[in-house]
Amino acid sequence: MNIVTTDSQTASGNCIAPKGSSPSEGWRSSMRAAFRRLEELCRYLQLPEDFIAGGKQAAADFPLFVPREFAAKIRPGDVNDPLLRQVLPVESETVSLEGFTANPVGDHEATLTPGLLQKYQGRALMITTGACAVHCRYCFRRHFPYSESPKGIEAWETALAAIAGDVSLHEILLSGGDPLMLTDPILRQLVQRIAQVEHVKRLRIHTRLPVMIPSRVNDELLTWLTETRLKPVVVIHVNHPHELGHDVAGALARLSEAGVPLLNQTVLLRGINDDAATLSELSERLFDCRVMPYYLHQLDRVQGAAHFEVDRATGLKLIAAMRSSLPGYLVPRYVEEIAGDTSKRVIA
Ligand SMILES: *Cc1c(COP(=O)(O)O)cnc(C)c1O
Ligand code: SF4
Repeated sequence: MNIVTTDSQTASGNCIAPKGSSPSEGWRSSMRAAFRRLEELCRYLQLPEDFIAGGKQAAADFPLFVPREFAAKIRPGDVNDPLLRQVLPVESETVSLEGFTANPVGDHEATLTPGLLQKYQGRALMITTGACAVHCRYCFRRHFPYSESPKGIEAWETALAAIAGDVSLHEILLSGGDPLMLTDPILRQLVQRIAQVEHVKRLRIHTRLPVMIPSRVNDELLTWLTETRLKPVVVIHVNHPHELGHDVAGALARLSEAGVPLLNQTVLLRGINDDAATLSELSERLFDCRVMPYYLHQLDRVQGAAHFEVDRATGLKLIAAMRSSLPGYLVPRYVEEIAGDTSKRVIA
């Protein structure tokens, strides 16, 4: 089982907004309007027909899902567009390669209770949902057994009890999937419950939604995120400067103006951002949007993503080039995740 089941349910079922819903629910209409069919996306982007055939099998394994807000930032007719390549199912995904596995980062071993992972001291990660607002082809969670994770506040009781029972936990990360796929009333309740645990100080949200569907940053979200005593931090995920359009910048400005610190993580991806100019431009553009570069991740060796891998020697050169041209605070830490380590391993 993987992300697919949960995703299609959320995308087509639970997300139906009632008629006359407020503008703050507009992101749900965006979910409904997203591209889910290869043919449809290819037609919209004026891509050659033979593009479709190659990706059919890959799309059957892990369906295409691309919001229109993101698709609008892709250059029509360009099969090498760096945004397109993140989301387009291609034949290479179906090739098995030694060393690329379904569980490359040891998530199963780090499970404390269903839906709660702890790998590092002081912080634990809640898998709040398996759904995402985009299907990134390189995702290390594409094979994660989300069906074993709880869905809903009652189902989280075990995880909340585990958090309450461990006084060493000072930070809770909401992850998934994408936690902002949940509705604001549910998130508000969940955050209130976490805040009742005295030893928890910080709440971290790992999300791609402000980038995929910027209208997700609505008043309700800003309310639950800032009314809590927990100190919030939002970590977004942007791989290329073209993702940071004016709509995304607006959403990030709202978060920043509400006092929420913003960090970004990037995955180093072949043919997408594996050159120093792109990575430097990304850092500068992030800073314009009030986001600090945090991590540049070496790709997790997940099955089906081998064609995205950039070797470490190249990664090191890219970091060196960035360091020689940018202020230190705009150079992300280049890291990789090794199962069993006590932190992300810093490569440079
Ligand atoms: C990456 C990760 C974290 C966060 O690590 P930081 O270095 O604090 O950003 C926490 N828990 C899990 C399970 C992770 O994979
Ligand atoms: S948004 Fe994150 S969790 Fe979801 S598919 Fe993309 S990389 Fe994976």
